[in-house]
Amino acid sequence: MGSREPDTVRDSCGVYGVWGHPDAPRLVHYGLYALQHRGQESAGIVASDGSHVVHYKGMGLVSEVFNDQKLEALRGHISIGHVRYSTSGSSRLANAQPVVVRYRGGLLALAHNGNLVNAVPLRGALEDEGSIFQTTVDTEVIAHLVARSRLPRVEEALPEALNKVKGGYALIVMNETTLLAARDPNGFRPLCVGRFPEGGWVVASETCALDATGAEFVREVRPGELLVIDETGLRSTQAVPPGKPALCVFEYIYLARPDSNLEGRNVHVVRKDLGRRLALDYPVEADIVTGVPDSSISAASGYAEEAGIAYELGLVKNRYIGRTFIQPSTSARTFGVQVKLNPLRKVLEGQRVVLVDDSIVRGTTSRRIVNLLRQAGATEVHMRIASPPYRYPCYYGIDTSAEGELIASTKSVEEIAASIGADSLHYLTTQALHETVTGLPDWPVAERCCMACFTGHYPVPVDEARGKFEFEETPDGDDNDRPGGEIEAVAAGTEG
Ligand code: SF4
Repeated sequence: MGSREPDTVRDSCGVYGVWGHPDAPRLVHYGLYALQHRGQESAGIVASDGSHVVHYKGMGLVSEVFNDQKLEALRGHISIGHVRYSTSGSSRLANAQPVVVRYRGGLLALAHNGNLVNAVPLRGALEDEGSIFQTTVDTEVIAHLVARSRLPRVEEALPEALNKVKGGYALIVMNETTLLAARDPNGFRPLCVGRFPEGGWVVASETCALDATGAEFVREVRPGELLVIDETGLRSTQAVPPGKPALCVFEYIYLARPDSNLEGRNVHVVRKDLGRRLALDYPVEADIVTGVPDSSISAASGYAEEAGIAYELGLVKNRYIGRTFIQPSTSARTFGVQVKLNPLRKVLEGQRVVLVDDSIVRGTTSRRIVNLLRQAGATEVHMRIASPPYRYPCYYGIDTSAEGELIASTKSVEEIAASIGADSLHYLTTQALHETVTGLPDWPVAERCCMACFTGHYPVPVDEARGKFEFEETPDGDDNDRPGGEIEAVAAGTEG
């Protein structure tokens, strides 16, 4: 897994695109800020005024990559942007998105959230036929498939390409004049469409990014649907036949922002309901409830309300150092967790504590947090997890540890409790999770979300899938510490 030591479910990527607004690149910039939680390794924006395309991308947070000068250079009424956490290919500038390619049809820019499970054989076949790849990300496979198509228009070539790829994608594509948005046939990754009151369309990973830019939510992009937006308006086609509905349940548990809505349900409300269910299923005598900030606060408040136990701020998070995975090594991570979370001794001293968290990946972070609470005077620590034991890796766009590194893949719940030092430990069952998220009691007969990392039942076969660094010659080449970027202006259609 390169040089980092992951102990959390990491975000995948965030995408945002605008068609038909005079300040499109600025809006994309704001939209990327709202999606920053989905990826903090790199950011990029592409803009077109209808004939000239300009793009800029760099390593780091949106605020580190873009300044006024960079934004000034990005003009046009069409624009797409991307924030990345690497789930395919290493974290380096060449792999930052949007991926921009020139081919005989002109210019194509792609911003992708998700992972293709058959990228390796597709790329091998393309290379055998002479394709030369510039990056090690699976998104470029889609670009090559479009570029090699005999169909002249991108809105014809893209569906042809999408019918060859398998896996998870929320994809926004643009050329000089047109914006396209597509979602995989299972709908693993979220994607929604909105409108600006003053005119113009927006497509984004989450509804919080519509709110941030003053756009009104219109609807979610349907699984397998392709939207094409140009001078003639918005057109919808079913590019790929829809498959079994499989929105990633981890979007509700951890990934999405609490102020986003997914399939009509607010993420904060769902998380609170998960906490309530935990309290109903696994009550315990305690004095206070606290949550691991930020993603577990909603579930912890739900637990506290249902149990009738006071919710307290037991851990204070330093909000200015990014998410845990940014720490580059084991020793730095040990240091980083202590800097990031400070236990509130005044609150914890002499108290029996219910500690709510969204998930346990490897167990090292949980162990440190339980330890922090005890050092701050907690007399008992009862851990409650708002998801089932996390046993299987994700192949659809979330970067997690390998199966052997997931603590629940090798240890029982009792063994995990002992390993992290908790007085008791309980997880939600898969049935309770599915019921709470969907409001339907029919799991596993009808599964409405992807739950594969808990059940091992993958909605799309993953036998062709490989690891994140599959296309790397040396799988350790992340350059997260490079804030610099590259700016390039290209006249449309200059290469054939
Ligand atoms: S395997 Fe897990 S993380 Fe991946 S899409 Fe399915 S539910 Fe989400």
